[in-house]
Amino acid sequence: MGIETMYTQLGICPAVYEYGEAILQQLRPRFDQIDRTAEHNQLKVLAAMQKNRVNATHFAATTGYGYNDDGRDNLERVYADVFHTEAALVRPQITCGTHALTVALSANLLPGDELLSPVGAPYDTLEEVIGIRPSKCSLREYGVTYAQADLKPDGSFDYDAIRQKIHARTKLITIQRSKGYATRPSFSPAQIGELISFCKSIKPDVKIMVDNCYGEFVETLEPSDYGADMVVGSLIKNPGGGLAPIGGYICGTKECVDRCAYRLSAPGLGQEVGANLGLMPAFYQGLFLSPTVVAGALKGAVFAANIYESLGFPCVPGAKEDRHDIIQAVTLGSAEAMVAFCKGIQSAAPVDSYVTPEPWSMPGYDSDVIMAAGAFVQGSSIELSADGPIRSPYAVYFQGGLTWYHAKLGILNSLQKLLDAGLVSLP
Ligand SMILES: *Cc1c(COP(=O)(O)O)cnc(C)c1O
Repeated sequence: MGIETMYTQLGICPAVYEYGEAILQQLRPRFDQIDRTAEHNQLKVLAAMQKNRVNATHFAATTGYGYNDDGRDNLERVYADVFHTEAALVRPQITCGTHALTVALSANLLPGDELLSPVGAPYDTLEEVIGIRPSKCSLREYGVTYAQADLKPDGSFDYDAIRQKIHARTKLITIQRSKGYATRPSFSPAQIGELISFCKSIKPDVKIMVDNCYGEFVETLEPSDYGADMVVGSLIKNPGGGLAPIGGYICGTKECVDRCAYRLSAPGLGQEVGANLGLMPAFYQGLFLSPTVVAGALKGAVFAANIYESLGFPCVPGAKEDRHDIIQAVTLGSAEAMVAFCKGIQSAAPVDSYVTPEPWSMPGYDSDVIMAAGAFVQGSSIELSADGPIRSPYAVYFQGGLTWYHAKLGILNSLQKLLDAGLVSLP
């Protein structure tokens, strides 16, 4: 059977398939560049694993306190080598990205200190962590204040505003690499490096934390290569490679990471405790696969931007733009188009393909939200997924794909559903 027939059997009509192939023809140089980055990062991960003599004893499960857990300790050395940091904390006890960021912030900020975001508002879930929205146990409740310098209208750093906001109490600066659900651009590690240098030139002892979620392995260097004291992320995004079923990481200076370990477990216990519960094979192998998984997700994002921009839908980043994370925003302009797009992503999934996504109210949102995900790991957004609030400008945020071929099917299927619903016509 020819491949086109297989697409037809999966619901993709020949016109949609051909349209996708025509777009793909132009993308070969982009894809080559993505593969080159993946190759670099694969070698970086391999070198770290070889240097630390990873072997089968590191895959053994531990329980209880997890004393002398060599698999866990060695994985942390591997992460530290990959991110070129002195230390790392990589644990299943870190439940998600928000938790990892919370540990990093609350471990390194004391009452009377101030936290500064020089890149505008942080990710939604951090608002309660910081206390921007009042919450029990927020940093604010513990006497940590918060300041923010917004980006300039063109999305660049407002250095004058940042200079004004750095003062004696400014202890930690948080920089979010990915735009998340905002409309600002995502930042490259090199851009973040410039910002770090600027902040440290004003206050040399200020600590810099980078929220690295969705950014790992998109480029060959990470923010830790540009002087960040901590880089923080989730294992059910890029670095878990789709295999990690839970977890988060904090890589950074020994001073910062020690404090994070004391905060995560208990003062005095730190990294000495924390059983690995049999997750080491998934964590090691997931990290090993992550560079190619991220490459697949990036190809999907580039493909989606080129398909939808060519049909007149605004995309962030744009079809031709460089990428600093795996997220693709597509402005579809109507609720119906968002639903059709998400139906296409959902019905192309390996899991829950028969489920129909519908807009639903969600805590923390003032409008209904639609989500499409057919994932092996619940909520994993390195797996192909799409979501967005049903409100103007009616944009979906699309990310992930454990393989490029799955991402391709998902995007073609989203287009098919838009076509079927009469919401788009092919030229
Ligand atoms: C996903 C994400 C988070 C939070 O991670 P969760 O695992 O969803 O808690 C924080 N910041 C950014 C930029 C993210 O993309």
